[in-house]
Amino acid sequence: MRFPPHGECADLLAEQMAAMGVEVTVSTEPPTARSPYTADPFTCPHGVSYWIEPTAAQLTRWAAEDLP
Ligand SMILES: [Zn+2]
Repeated sequence: MRFPPHGECADLLAEQMAAMGVEVTVSTEPPTARSPYTADPFTCPHGVSYWIEPTAAQLTRWAAEDLP
């Protein structure tokens, strides 16, 4: 298996989440405040940890979808 260059890791993660219909931000820094959606960091094949958080726009969309 061939890994993409590390420069593409963050973009690939965001793309994969977008493909699942979730708009996210990908950061190498842990979030300052954990949200209910904060998960354990993802470690890319190069050994770098990424925190994946839904964007504010995504949270707004979910909130709207939950309305009765
Ligand atoms: Zn990487």
